[in-house]
Amino acid sequence: MDKKDKVEKINAISPSFCLAKWTQVTLDLVHGTTHSCHHPKRHSVSIDAVHQNPSALHNTPEKKQARQEMLAGKRPSECQYCWNIEDTPGEHLSDRFVKSMDPWSWPFLKEVLECGSEGDYTPQYLEVMFDNACNFACSYCLADISSSIYKEMKKHGPYKVENSTHRMMDPNWKGDFKREENPFVEAFWKWLPEIWTNLKVLRVTGGEPFLSKHTFRLLEYCLSHPNKELELAFNSNLGIDRERLERYQKFAQTIRENEAVKSQELYVSVDSIGEQAEYIRRGLHYDQFLHNLQIFLEDKSFHRITLMCTFNILSIPHFDQFMETVEELKSKYPHLVLDMSYLKEPHYLKASLATSEMREKVFLGNKRVQESTLFDEFEKNKVGRIAHWLKVADEGEKLSGLRGDFFSFVNEYDKRYGTSFLASFPELKDFYILCKKERFLSSF
Ligand code: SF4
Repeated sequence: MDKKDKVEKINAISPSFCLAKWTQVTLDLVHGTTHSCHHPKRHSVSIDAVHQNPSALHNTPEKKQARQEMLAGKRPSECQYCWNIEDTPGEHLSDRFVKSMDPWSWPFLKEVLECGSEGDYTPQYLEVMFDNACNFACSYCLADISSSIYKEMKKHGPYKVENSTHRMMDPNWKGDFKREENPFVEAFWKWLPEIWTNLKVLRVTGGEPFLSKHTFRLLEYCLSHPNKELELAFNSNLGIDRERLERYQKFAQTIRENEAVKSQELYVSVDSIGEQAEYIRRGLHYDQFLHNLQIFLEDKSFHRITLMCTFNILSIPHFDQFMETVEELKSKYPHLVLDMSYLKEPHYLKASLATSEMREKVFLGNKRVQESTLFDEFEKNKVGRIAHWLKVADEGEKLSGLRGDFFSFVNEYDKRYGTSFLASFPELKDFYILCKKERFLSSF
């Protein structure tokens, strides 16, 4: 069945149907939250429910409700990320189709339909966060995910922006468990043998996963329980000490020698190049990042290495050079894949705050990607739809307040970390002045 037929079949089930609501799960075991897929907001898992049945880590009442809506052709509001893409003019496939057609989703269509909205589904794609320990404090990230940001917010408190909860701990979530007594981690280790042979993709995220002992326990589990159909993946900021990275690399090599899994993959993140990338991802040393990336790219244990970009307003000034760098790396390492999503929150770092002049840089970078023979269809679609979104993205009346918030944020961020926005982003001086004016005007 070709892509067009699959799209038609998905829409024939319902115009809001998406397999990922069943097949894919992301678990944050630190706070006991879950979502399917990773785009909707996370929601809490019941401790009582996981005590009775660890599959409640995935099959929550909230997801069952969203599954019911999808089967009835209603759009779950939590999937707005996809509706935004689908409602922009032109032929752009949203993740609803991309994820539904993925090899860990599409072959299980029958099982998903049989499960319906009431049953408990055993996922094929599991992403798990054991720990929020992280040595980075990226500009768009949260205290819940990074222990470094947690410390920052505890010390300095909220930023003076309209949504002052940004970067703060979510008060609605649990998470005051001692590391040794976390009921969700306990439920995960109980659930794992049950779902192990069903899993096609297992991805560990964080925090920085290689700072967690559970990551290494999982690597040992993979070695002692071979699953030849499993794609095993880890996220890493590649900014941790060499010893930990080498320990992981040795595991990866042994797993490959023993053919314990089908393939191994590493996901790394960067959103621009050089100093601007370092500004966005606080803690990143760009040259060290590139050096470590090349070590892993040279290692035959990895079937694919994915470079993830969370495209935000600060990605814009060097977007074209960033794409050029990725293109150069791809010419040497064809198994390097570019993945790109636009930043949804915080709103004041969204690329849609950019002026039309700034947006041109993105269109230029997109042109490079679309014309290159080194980027594949997946990458062209990801970059192309971001450029397309940016053509039409408009924050309307909110724009002035958000630009004012941008100004407040970068000034405070500079104060907290001893950085200088204007020194790192001289090309954005006019934009900075514009945002300053907006802040001034919105104070009346
Ligand atoms: S519709 Fe989109 S946001 Fe919702 S689960 Fe599917 S891919 Fe994720």
